[in-house]
Amino acid sequence: MDKQTDILIIGSCSAGLYFGGLMAKQGFNVILCDKSKEENLGARFDVIHIAQRHFAEFGIPEPGPGDDDYIETFHAAYQRSALDKYPKLNHEDICVLRRVPLMKRIRKWAEEQAASGTGSQRGSLTILFETEFIKPLFQNGTIRGGILKNVDGEVTITSSLVVDASGIDAVVRTQLPDNYGVETFVTGPRDQFYVVLQYISLKDKSKTPTNNTFWPYYKCWFAPAITPADGLFGVGANLSFEYAEKCWQRFNSRIPMPPHELLYKEKGSTPYRRPPFSLVADNFLVLGDAACITNPWSGEGVPYGMLLCKIAAGVIGQKDAKNTAQFSKMAMWPINKEYFGSQGAEFAANLVMLSGAIACTPEENDYEFSKSIIFEDETEKGKGNLVAKLIGALFAGGISLKSLKALMSGALLGGKISAHYKNFPLNLADYPAWEAKAKQLWAKSANMADLAEEDLKTMV
Ligand SMILES: Cc1cc2nc3c(=O)[nH]c(=O)nc-3n(C[C@H](O)[C@H](O)[C@H](O)COP(=O)(O)OP(=O)(O)OC[C@H]3O[C@@H](n4cnc5c(N)ncnc54)[C@H](O)[C@@H]3O)c2cc1C
Repeated sequence: MDKQTDILIIGSCSAGLYFGGLMAKQGFNVILCDKSKEENLGARFDVIHIAQRHFAEFGIPEPGPGDDDYIETFHAAYQRSALDKYPKLNHEDICVLRRVPLMKRIRKWAEEQAASGTGSQRGSLTILFETEFIKPLFQNGTIRGGILKNVDGEVTITSSLVVDASGIDAVVRTQLPDNYGVETFVTGPRDQFYVVLQYISLKDKSKTPTNNTFWPYYKCWFAPAITPADGLFGVGANLSFEYAEKCWQRFNSRIPMPPHELLYKEKGSTPYRRPPFSLVADNFLVLGDAACITNPWSGEGVPYGMLLCKIAAGVIGQKDAKNTAQFSKMAMWPINKEYFGSQGAEFAANLVMLSGAIACTPEENDYEFSKSIIFEDETEKGKGNLVAKLIGALFAGGISLKSLKALMSGALLGGKISAHYKNFPLNLADYPAWEAKAKQLWAKSANMADLAEEDLKTMV
């Protein structure tokens, strides 16, 4: 079976569906494929947290009581120190949702976008379920579609743009030729953040959580979940699920959670590494987890991936039948500039700073909380000078010289990387020099998996 379309998107979860909807609204014919069954789309895990404001930001109808995907909304999140003190309160309305019906919501929205165009601006959106991407299709050295497979056999789809939204496996990006213009690295085991969620029933129901509490030192949290669970314990760690489980045990031995019975567990991983230096090449775009767009603090990726989709759709613009180069690397290059100049710079800085922020003792982390160093509540944000606070902490004996150095070098490198990304070149001719300098900066950053491995040795 052969088909032809403007845009072929591999992966129909949050990134693929959202980008597909935006592009169909702009008059393009879009085909999405997903290897998953229609009813299982998004079933990788169940409960997901998304800040309510993102629904308005991305134009998707907000879930509410009575909707299939809606569990509840909580309004506050606390961070607590390694010694379980100094709660830092930040208000934010966070929706607790179910992933499979949430994907249905985004799909419905995307299909409505396709139907909303008129006349020559009318696009279309088709989803091929249980259809697996096998390999890219090239014409004269340029990607022009993909070879897919479903129960009926092989499907060849030719398209003007191929979008990889296939999640952490990045099944298209990793199969491109090395010199195609987008890095082809595999997001391997040492570049992932392993999340274990324990759905629990509490012995004392009055302890049921009404908001999220996060202990950054241990990367553990206690959050609302769905009946029959009273809540969920989460842990996220680099290196492996085994290490994540051990981190949970260490946390629970130091800060005991309320007595409970474990109902079931869910596990999954998200990318934890820098994105490719360029997200675009001729007729090719990479989005979402396939592009490693996750928040280094939490491993969350849905709204952050959607931001990149929105930027990309804005840069590409309306379908223009006369513009045959609408999907050239040159035409799409400003996507890099806009993304890396904003969220991309912030996440890059956080990625390198985090290793410094956790390289300390529980007592030092507690001291940092007490003086609002790094860990701040909403009334403290942006107040005071970090360097002055750190030097004060050293003289007061709150942190050691070793920890101060780790923090300072992380913060300095983070500042440099952020500035470099904000300076992403708009002119393609300036890019090789930018990339060379970016590689030098990243070479100085610590890999969290190495730190986790060191820590694991001490646990054994
Ligand atoms: C346990 C856990 C908890 C999380 N909690 C949160 C949270 O609370 N909030 C948040 O924002 N983020 C959370 N995240 C991260 C978030 O789930 C991801 O960042 C997000 O799902 C990425 O979306 P995506 O569309 O890029 O990729 P995915 O959601 O991974 O979708 C990729 C799609 O591509 C399809 N696919 C893959 N290979 C092929 C192929 N060869 N052919 C066809 N189709 C293919 C897959 O079937 C899948 O449907 C969590 C992650 C984990 C693991």
